Amino acid sequence: MGKILRINMDSLQYKLEEISYPYANLGGRALTSQIICREVPPKADVLGSENKLIFSPGILAGTTVPNSGRLSVGAKSPLTNTIKEANSGGAAARKLAKIGLQAIVIEGRAKELTLIRIDKDGVNFISAIPLKGLGNYELIERLRREYGNNIAIISIGPGGESKMKAASIAVTTLDFHIRAAARGGLGAVMGSKNLKAVIIDDTGCDRVEAKDKTQLREASTELSRGILSHPIVGAFRELGTAVLVMMMNAYGCLATKNYSLGQFVGAEKISGEYMTELMKKRPNGQPVHRCMEGCIINCSNIFTDENGEVIVSGLEYETIGLIGSNCMIDDIDIIARINRVCNDVGVDTMDVGGAIAVCMEAGLLSWGDGKSAFDLVKEIGRGTEKGLMIGNGCKFTGDKMGVKRIPHVKGQCLAAYDPRSLKGTGVTYATSTMGADHTCGNAIPNPANPAYNPSAPTGQGPVSQFLQSYFAAIDSLGLCLFASLPLLDMPELQKHLASCVSAVTGEPLDENYLMNMGKSVLKSERQFNDAVGFSKEDDRLPKFFLEEKLLPSGNVFDVPEEEMDDIYNF
Ligand code: SF4
Repeated sequence: MGKILRINMDSLQYKLEEISYPYANLGGRALTSQIICREVPPKADVLGSENKLIFSPGILAGTTVPNSGRLSVGAKSPLTNTIKEANSGGAAARKLAKIGLQAIVIEGRAKELTLIRIDKDGVNFISAIPLKGLGNYELIERLRREYGNNIAIISIGPGGESKMKAASIAVTTLDFHIRAAARGGLGAVMGSKNLKAVIIDDTGCDRVEAKDKTQLREASTELSRGILSHPIVGAFRELGTAVLVMMMNAYGCLATKNYSLGQFVGAEKISGEYMTELMKKRPNGQPVHRCMEGCIINCSNIFTDENGEVIVSGLEYETIGLIGSNCMIDDIDIIARINRVCNDVGVDTMDVGGAIAVCMEAGLLSWGDGKSAFDLVKEIGRGTEKGLMIGNGCKFTGDKMGVKRIPHVKGQCLAAYDPRSLKGTGVTYATSTMGADHTCGNAIPNPANPAYNPSAPTGQGPVSQFLQSYFAAIDSLGLCLFASLPLLDMPELQKHLASCVSAVTGEPLDENYLMNMGKSVLKSERQFNDAVGFSKEDDRLPKFFLEEKLLPSGNVFDVPEEEMDDIYNF
């Protein structure tokens, strides 16, 4: 295991700590959440010096285990006021693991905007005053020119500097595209520390060695083989996550017109199928791309314009759903351009997409008017009144505009799956420790499990409980969610995954390792939220999902409250 690097922003000093109980053998979400639970007072001001910002690679980062390089970012959330972990692909997690760091804990607040550079010899603090107000794209180019290509950058744009509730944290890929730990406003916490960017340079560092190299090689090979054999992986590889647009539209649960419809007439024009053909035709377009080293699925893409200029990488289902169908915008180019502006200013495309839709519902702009939506999003970086409003997310915007139908739980906008037809996902939205977060346990229809009915009113609680525990463990290992889906249908692969962990840590693990770890993470997170003051009454979807029928199915969200109240009874 690596060490914990503690950085005190008040004094601009750092120290390295050996990992020991209670943090031993933890990584990713398990470690960020454990540190928050033990070191951040539940009533702490989210933007005050008591809140801590933690970066942690998963336990498997830097090893040969496929798709295992995600970076977890944790803090108490400015958006939800709950504990929060958001994770991202990119190059940072593997580099941190190679340097020998299992976590960076950012404490206090610097007097002026600061840059931190980390390499094998230690930490440098550099004034970031000349970089103040820069968008992520220009910032990354400048840092790359100055510090070379063997770096990963974790940064905020003006959204984080202005401490907007929907501010994201950008993480660069190996080829310097932007991925993001986008949810929960963690960019605002980074801004509150006066931290513009962290540069990680792993020059001269060896790769991470397992305690048992033979066991790791064998288990990792079996795991890769199993993942690649699953049909869903082929679909993600061919069409990216945007494959979900037509699937969810067919199922009648594609978030459409601020969650008033389950199908979008323009779905084909924003689909994975359409995008892929476009990217094949356009210069420099890439329908297949990987967001991190070691990925064997490559669901990402590089979306360019007619002239081959890169607009964004990657253009993903959640962005397309929230900015596209949910705003009735069927122009994939304008969606990509809005995505780019969000990346640049450093805000979550999902919460901003939700904010645009509630503005449309309020009549501030017309449904489907992509040009006006683009102009509105550009106002975030300019700091106008409307820009500040939508930069603070869907709930803030809905309240400000007097909209009654605001699709959020605990302040965070839902993902692009309507919970009236995906009721297990609805339970996850309602009960997750982090507000409405589909990555915590998304119960989508699965051809390999035809017995599961996602729109049945009962039995969804146990499904969500299982998935929330499973994905809490996956987030702790640093495994990409898409690589973890085949393991749900092929439980033997879970044994290979546990064997990989055991080979890395040297600890023997039993077959219940994954689920036990996931439950333990959820339990700690729940206790933190209880101490903040949340209760079961907060684990509910907005009323309109219970009362308004979703067309065309006529479904309402009718899962009994007892099922949601039972989620944390392990
Ligand atoms: S499958 Fe997609 S999200 Fe996962 S690591 Fe690969 S490119 Fe990134």
